[in-house]
Amino acid sequence: MANKERILVIDDEEVIRDSCTQALTKVGYVVKSAEDADKGLELVKSFNPGIVLVDLKMPGKSGIEALEEIQNIDPNIIKIVITGFATVSSAIDAMKKGAYDFIPKPFTPEEIRVIVARGLERRQLLLESEALRLEQERTRQNMISLVSHEFRAPLAATIQYLEVILGGMAGDISPEAKEMMERCDVRLREMLELLGRWISLAIFDADKLSENFTDISLKDIASESIEVLKSTAEEKKISLTLDSPESLPTIKGNKVSIGEIFNNLISNGIKYNKEGGWVKVRLSETDEYISVTVSDNGMGMDHEHLSKIFDEFYRVDGRRNAPVKGSGLGLSIVKKMVNAHGGTIDVESETGKGSTFKIDFPKVFEPKHSDKKEEDR
Ligand code: ADP
Repeated sequence: MANKERILVIDDEEVIRDSCTQALTKVGYVVKSAEDADKGLELVKSFNPGIVLVDLKMPGKSGIEALEEIQNIDPNIIKIVITGFATVSSAIDAMKKGAYDFIPKPFTPEEIRVIVARGLERRQLLLESEALRLEQERTRQNMISLVSHEFRAPLAATIQYLEVILGGMAGDISPEAKEMMERCDVRLREMLELLGRWISLAIFDADKLSENFTDISLKDIASESIEVLKSTAEEKKISLTLDSPESLPTIKGNKVSIGEIFNNLISNGIKYNKEGGWVKVRLSETDEYISVTVSDNGMGMDHEHLSKIFDEFYRVDGRRNAPVKGSGLGLSIVKKMVNAHGGTIDVESETGKGSTFKIDFPKVFEPKHSDKKEEDR
């Protein structure tokens, strides 16, 4: 049998090390052993085993500590705990710390071979799913770079040429041609904006964002957004107001992202509204949260859409020539950014009456690192 898999046994009892080595080398595995956790951890790095059998009760560094360190060195190493009957409960603790299985002492050669074979099957699955994840990530990165460079750059260049022509700098053009070119210009700009939005969604990394959080004032950012969008609201004769307590605690966050949250929600409130309508931004505080609501008395939407509007590219009126233009990406960006700040977002809406988006930002931010490898398991 040609099992060239490497197995490491860490146990202070020589008899256990020898019996494991014998049972496993007999079927072709390459086995090394160590009598304590420190020597074992050295071998984890130099010998690069696929499976480590660890005794929980050892003098010096415990098996549980060793398990944690092995997990940090390479989470794809399968860890099997060797334990006496009296310590089955600690074996269960060990499994919570990433051990795959446990084998109580005493065990027969066949029992150890069965558990190791099962562990190796598990490892194979882990390695395959890791390879798949890396492949998907590579495809995603290629797509992002294709869209960023090959699509956006020529679009931006074309818009610049159009600007030159429309500005009369390339000679006279007929009014008909000018009108057509203006339409081209609008379409191309919409496309450029869509690509920009898609890229910001695709490259969004919540962990990276939270590394650079600073103290920010939601009230200041809301005021800035309102200032920027005031003229758009005025064009549609929509009143845009902010209602906030005089002072509110700051939260930990990223100013640009929070600005994008307000911009998206407020511009939707204006976009999906009627002339003479209103958009109200309200800030309030509870013990745990600072809450933001953005409500409008615009067109609203039916209940059936509410669970889908945060999905990428979802639009209530999905037709390309819908009366209100959009990409269906704004709310998915908003949701990702809210979640990256530890917050939650909800929506209530009724067709013809309006919509209210409510965000709760926690006053105390606790980063939740999204370990992709763990998620895949
Ligand atoms: P976009 O506005 O670019 O289409 P969003 O992701 O911002 O994309 O919104 C998704 C869909 O949710 C919109 O197409 C619209 O149908 C609906 N929607 C969002 N905000 C509102 C609102 N304030 N009032 C009514 N419908 C809304």
